[in-house]
Parts: sequence; structure tokens; C-alpha cells
Amino acid sequence: MSFESLGLAPALLRALAEQGYANPTPIQAGAIPVVLEGHDLLAAAQTGTGKTAAFALPLLHKLSSARPAATRRPHALVLTPTRELAAQVNDNLRDYGRHLRVSSTTIFGGVSMGPQMQALRRGVDVVIATPGRLIDHMQQRSVDLSGIDTLILDEADRMLDMGFLPALKRILAALPRQRQTLLFSATFAPPIKALAMQFMHEPREVSVTPPNTVATTVSHHVHPVDAARKRDLLLHVLAQDSRRQTLVFSRTKHGADKLVRYLEAAGLRAAAIHGNKSQNARTRALSDFKTGRITVLVATDIAARGIDIDQLPIVINFDLPMVAEDYVHRIGRTGRAGADGLAVSLVSHDESGLLRDIRRLLKQEIAITDVAGFEPSQPLRLDAGAPRPVQGQRQPQGQRQQRPSRPAPSHRPHGHAQQGSAERASDGNHKRRRRRPAAKA
Ligand code: AMP
Repeated sequence: MSFESLGLAPALLRALAEQGYANPTPIQAGAIPVVLEGHDLLAAAQTGTGKTAAFALPLLHKLSSARPAATRRPHALVLTPTRELAAQVNDNLRDYGRHLRVSSTTIFGGVSMGPQMQALRRGVDVVIATPGRLIDHMQQRSVDLSGIDTLILDEADRMLDMGFLPALKRILAALPRQRQTLLFSATFAPPIKALAMQFMHEPREVSVTPPNTVATTVSHHVHPVDAARKRDLLLHVLAQDSRRQTLVFSRTKHGADKLVRYLEAAGLRAAAIHGNKSQNARTRALSDFKTGRITVLVATDIAARGIDIDQLPIVINFDLPMVAEDYVHRIGRTGRAGADGLAVSLVSHDESGLLRDIRRLLKQEIAITDVAGFEPSQPLRLDAGAPRPVQGQRQPQGQRQQRPSRPAPSHRPHGHAQQGSAERASDGNHKRRRRRPAAKA
């Protein structure tokens, strides 16, 4: 299958060729014809699958071929959970649409409303917005949504997770009923289905990745370590190749800041990206990371959501996420488009339950290896049924963690992968689901 055979406008084919994209990814091959035919679309695809182009290309095609006479009202609205994702979608639209006369603008919080109002007043074809700030504009009557004939909900599952459902409903109620609606989500969980039932018209479904899986090109490694020694172990892992761009996940904003200070004190070039940083600081950190000015980007889950960094070789979980699904989102940053990726998690004894949740969700092996010099005083509890091991006590045979026989390059552990124990573990913990508090983009 080629982009030509999808019937896209020559100007788009040119832009794609310039980007070096030879063939559509599976989500693009599945979604583009459905969108061009004018159907509503429910697409299950995660970041890294090429989902942005799956809606951006047919949208640009439609706008280029059937543009009504010049009007100031926007024709298409893309809603995203985060500012970073909105900016990234806009960048992609501009890249793919560089040979077309289609204009777009972003509308998100954290920056002043004035320039956004001016852009809207001048007139744009596509608005890419986070829900909170769009509602602000609706209240100020600075945005006219009456001409929207295409609505795209990007990362809809994450918008619901972040508490945006009431905002989404308000926005949807303000849109023309006659429109095409495309919904992209990592999963088709029941709340997503409910949203689709309520607001979409006989949507076609396209699903390219089974829910909750990560690229098979990613290898997963866990290093058990005492919480107090995590920072030193992180330095040790980073020291294996200090030129390598590494994304490090921290569970909290405060933790991310502390970690950056620690890394900087150790001579590394690092920056944090999280919700308490100004939009400018976030944009700068991301672009410094992309250009290589900094080598370590420490991010919280929400800030990192949807960040597009090509072919990141390694992602490190300094803390495990509270919700197992976030592990999948975090790891979505590596192993993209067939490249090899490495996911390294530094796990302390008190995170054993979180690791069990992740192992249950992930249908792949996780290699668990101690790093020489950083062996934990208490082993991880991988089988919740087992009695709680006390300090110094050995684990039962079959669960003993492999210890490398020589000082290990931590990011290439050679301990054997523990397989199948995710299925064996039965800790009765399935029902524990910590929900994120509502957040405003
Ligand atoms: P996305 O899932 O939209 O975040 O895209 C993931 C990455 O894949 C981005 O870096 C895109 O630039 C890239 N990409 C999108 N479409 C293609 C394609 N057809 N071939 C190769 N790479 C692509």
C-alpha cells in the first residue's frame, strides 16, 4: 500500500516524500480511506503509530480540495489533552500542509489569550485546542464554532482520565450536529464507547494495536534498588552513555525538580517538564532536548503525554507510575517505527505492587536484574501470595532474582528474563485503580 493509492492530493504526497515517509503505517492505511469517504471514525491507536498523520492527512486533503469561499470561521477542530500535544499536532499539520494554503492555530492555557484571539479574528481553517482554554474562548465569544464540520478528539481516553468529560460535553453541544467526528484513543474502554455512542454517527472502527500493548521492539528491564539509592543508580545507568538522549519519568513534579538539581550537580545537562512549569519553560526544555542541548529530560506523566521525540533509545522510570496503563504510555516514547528501544525501571521494595500490576498488563517479558553495588536490602515481592520476605531472607527458588556475575552495564542487563510469572501472580489487587485528579490544560 502506498500513499498514492490512498488518493491523497499531490501537494500532500510531495510533503510526505520530503519527510521521507515511503508508506502509510497500519493506522494510516486503515483510517485514511474511512475519513476520505466521510464516515465517523473510532480509531484505537497509541502515540507512535503514526496516528496524527492518520487524521491530519485526510483532513488536509478535504480542506484543500473542497474549501468553501474564504470565510473566517474555522472548519475543523482538534481537541487534545495537553498543550504539548496540541503544539505537536499543529507542527505536524504545518509539515504535511506546507504546499497547501491551509491555516491552523493552537489554543491552550498557560499563555495569554490575546494572541490567540487575534489569530482567531484573522481567521483560520483548523483550531487545535485543549478543552479548558477553548471553553474560556467560548465564554469570551472569541471563537466561532458554527462552521466546524470536522471534529477530531485526539487521545480521548487521556482527556477523560484528566477529567475533561464535562468540558468535552460543553464543547460538543456548541458544535454543528452535521459534522464528521474522528475519535482517537489508546483503548476502546467503556467510557470511550459511551462517548462515541452519544456523539458520533455510525462510526467505523479501526484498531491497529491491541489495547495495552507496547512495541515489540522494546525490551523491558527492572533493576531492584533501595529507594534511598535510586538517584545514585540513575547516575550509574546514565553514565553508561552520557551522550545518549534519555527521558526519565518521575511520579511527582517536586520529585522531577529535585532529580534535575541532583543530575545537574553531578555535571549532567538536564531539565524538567511538568505542569508547574510555565509554557515557555516547557517548550524550551523540549526543544533543548530535541536539539541535544540537554541530554536528560525528566518528565511527569501528564506533561510527557504525547510528546513526539523520534526514536528515543531509552526511557527510564525513576518511579513506577501509579496506574499500570501509564507504563504503556511512557514506554510509547521508545521503540517507535521499528527501532529498538529500552525501558529501564528502578524499582524499590515498596513499588512491588505497582510492578505486579504492570507485569499483569504487559504481555511481554520483563528482565529483572540487580546491578552490582546497588543490590536492594529487601527483594521485590513479585508474588503477592508469598510471605513478606524479611531483610536478608532469600527468595524461593524460581523467583530468585538473577544477579549479574560481573559489574553490569545497567542498561544492558544480562540476567534472564522472568517469564510467565505475571500470570501466576494473584494478589487480588486488580480492582485497585487510582484515578488521577482532574487537571486543567
Ligand atoms: P504519532 O503516532 O502521530 O505520534 O507519530 C509517531 C511518529 O511516526 C512521528 O514521529 C511521525 O513523524 C512518524 N510517522 C508518521 N507517519 C509515518 C510514516 N508513514 N512513515 C514513517 N514515519 C511516520
